[in-house]
Amino acid sequence: AQEQLVRTEKLSSLGKLSASIAHEINNPLAGILTFAKLVSRTLAEGPPDDARRAVLQRNLGLVEREAQRCSAIVRNLLDFARERPMAKKPVDPRAAVEEALSLIANQIAIQGVKLERHLPPLPQVLADFGQLRQAFVNVAMNACEAMGAKGGKLRITARAPEGAVEIAFQDDGPGMPPERVSHIFDPFFTTKEKGTGLGLSVVYGIVQRHGGSIAVDSTEGEGTTFTFRLPAVPAERTAEPPAPPIPADPAA
Ligand code: ADP
Ligand code: MG
Repeated sequence: AQEQLVRTEKLSSLGKLSASIAHEINNPLAGILTFAKLVSRTLAEGPPDDARRAVLQRNLGLVEREAQRCSAIVRNLLDFARERPMAKKPVDPRAAVEEALSLIANQIAIQGVKLERHLPPLPQVLADFGQLRQAFVNVAMNACEAMGAKGGKLRITARAPEGAVEIAFQDDGPGMPPERVSHIFDPFFTTKEKGTGLGLSVVYGIVQRHGGSIAVDSTEGEGTTFTFRLPAVPAERTAEPPAPPIPADPAA
């Protein structure tokens, strides 16, 4: 019975991994398909004059960017399969937020989401940059999806309480009833037709591996706020080393 249990766990984690691969790769892949179709359409319109060449160049650039994202995801998965430890180093959490936002810039623009940032300079956090960025992407994507086609406002704020960094993603979407909030971090919990329910489980795992926490505050009809709390790198670890003493001038 013991062995059976272990086997079942292995199979279910394999299932989770497969679903998360599909989830992570599906978005950039959809982008590649869209932009590739636009390239074909432009070529079908006629010989590539200057205007068409500009359109082609832009869309091929987007294909390239999305393909690079796919390749980065696969690289991460290969790292994961090799069970390599996380590449943690002191990073600026604001840079991870900014990169996350630029990765979902398309989504934000398409849905007409208004972005508001209040990000003061923050202490560094000891983190795997790629994973931290992924956690922010997942939460910001959920906010956009929750606000739906009519858009809304996504407010990102940060503070640095003693020894920590707090980053909050606040949307003015539909919010959630309390009984739903208690399930959103469960693997495969989703209320979306095409959801995988893996986004927030991935976020939870990432936050845990960074010694942090994540809190949710949601009110139906008003919106939802996800607040990340991560330990800050102690100041002496990021400070410049003291300047060497100036040697006494023998001529003086
Ligand atoms: P998925 O996005 O694939 O559904 P997630 O794990 O990312 O999976 O999210 C789980 C569920 O949590 C969503 O289906 C949704 O019901 C809920 N949720 C997450 N973020 C928000 C939000 N900002 N506003 C309202 N509901 C949310
Ligand atoms: Mg999600």
